[in-house]
Amino acid sequence: MKIYDLHSHSNFSDGTLSPEDLVKRAKEFGVEALALTDHDTVAGTASAKQAALSQGIEIISGVEFSCTWENQLIHMVGLNIDEHATSIQLGVQQNSERRHERAQRMHQDLIKHGVDIREQVAHILRDGASPARPHFAQALVEKGVVKDLKRAFKQFLVRGKPGYIPVAWPPLEEVASWILSAGGTPVLAHPARYKFTRTKLIRLIHDMQAVGVHCLEVSTCTTEAHQSKMLADLAREHELMASIGSDFHSPDQPWAALGAAPALPKDLQPVWAAF
Ligand code: AMP
Ligand code: MN
Ligand code: MN
Ligand code: MN
Repeated sequence: MKIYDLHSHSNFSDGTLSPEDLVKRAKEFGVEALALTDHDTVAGTASAKQAALSQGIEIISGVEFSCTWENQLIHMVGLNIDEHATSIQLGVQQNSERRHERAQRMHQDLIKHGVDIREQVAHILRDGASPARPHFAQALVEKGVVKDLKRAFKQFLVRGKPGYIPVAWPPLEEVASWILSAGGTPVLAHPARYKFTRTKLIRLIHDMQAVGVHCLEVSTCTTEAHQSKMLADLAREHELMASIGSDFHSPDQPWAALGAAPALPKDLQPVWAAF
């Protein structure tokens, strides 16, 4: 069976590799079909596709949208989208505005708490990449405010800490419609990450299905085996398709290597059946 990795990031969002280097690395790691799913942008897709031509690897157009469900942030991956579709262009523009506005407010909030990273923030905003919290975390490390990224996300940038600014991300149904209108397949990203109870996850599944979302990301590198088993059971019970992806961001994070998510159970309907 073909090796799929349907969740990865480039430096067009919070990944560290260019799309070209990402594709090259995916090939080296044995991936045969890769989806680039940057946060709220499709700007790296063209370069990834171009690079894939010479590497002999298939690129599936993708995106990872932030959205809101029951007042909480969830991530919705869109796979096999037409990245030029009006709905995607509109969606990335809207969420990009939210990200830029949040970045300014994060900067102001950090200043209020005595942390001035204005040079780094100027760089982050000039860069053109989708501004994300890991950029701020990296800036805090570079500035010597914290020792590493882990501490940056413990002492800053999260709820209740300096630099945390909540965002009114669009609702689940709106994001699902962006992806569906672009001919894509919406997928609930890393369902275990939200730490929902099983009951709550089932409520989310019902709400998803009502708006045309019929796929769970069952296997990722950071989903533990017992969680993947629970997700596979939910996929069976609710007749959902299953997706697999590393959520690769950087070679510095060897626990989320390209192509390294455990294979999907054979009886589940893989998401690529819908492509
Ligand atoms: P954002 O979408 O800008 O709010 O940033 C979320 C991204 O930050 C996620 O996709 C992860 O890549 C990263 N992230 C979130 N929490 C942590 C954490 N505790 N440690 C490291 N990276 C994190
Ligand atoms: Mn990320
Ligand atoms: Mn995510
Ligand atoms: Mn991701």
